[in-house]
Amino acid sequence: MTERTLVLIKPDGVARRYVGEILGRIEKKGLSIAALELKSVPRELASAHYAEHESKPFFPDLLEFITSGPVVAAVLEGPRAIAAFRQIAGGTDPVGKAVPGTIRADLALDGQQNLVHGSDSVESAEREISLWFPGLS
Ligand code: GDP
Ligand code: MG
Repeated sequence: MTERTLVLIKPDGVARRYVGEILGRIEKKGLSIAALELKSVPRELASAHYAEHESKPFFPDLLEFITSGPVVAAVLEGPRAIAAFRQIAGGTDPVGKAVPGTIRADLALDGQQNLVHGSDSVESAEREISLWFPGLS
């Protein structure tokens, strides 16, 4: 069953020059890139993207971080793309949860600056794709 998922290479990933490394891992996994763009992130887009975390204590820091520099936004496509990308991304905390071999475990230390975002469900993917790529059918 083909799915789409919204992936971000967060500002730390772009600043640390891991765009090629991360896209390479995505391609090696076998996922297709349906859309790809380097974007600066307006605050309203960041708030809408992370709306589910609005009440969390880390929300203000998260908005500062995600708007601190350009991100690479992508739509990935493939069988079970949502789970497949989250598998290669690893758990949210690069040290506590992420398994070695994943993007976060291999390349990050910080629970906030953890390099990538991937949609967590079909509903989130649809919502996030329409936020980041409003023109995409
Ligand atoms: P994800 O789906 O694995 O990215 O994790 P969540 O949806 O739970 O959180 C969204 C993002 O918020 C994470 O990727 C981190 O960048 C950040 N984040 C999550 N939990 C924390 C936290 O406890 N502290 C801080 N500072 N940031 C967090
Ligand atoms: Mg999430």
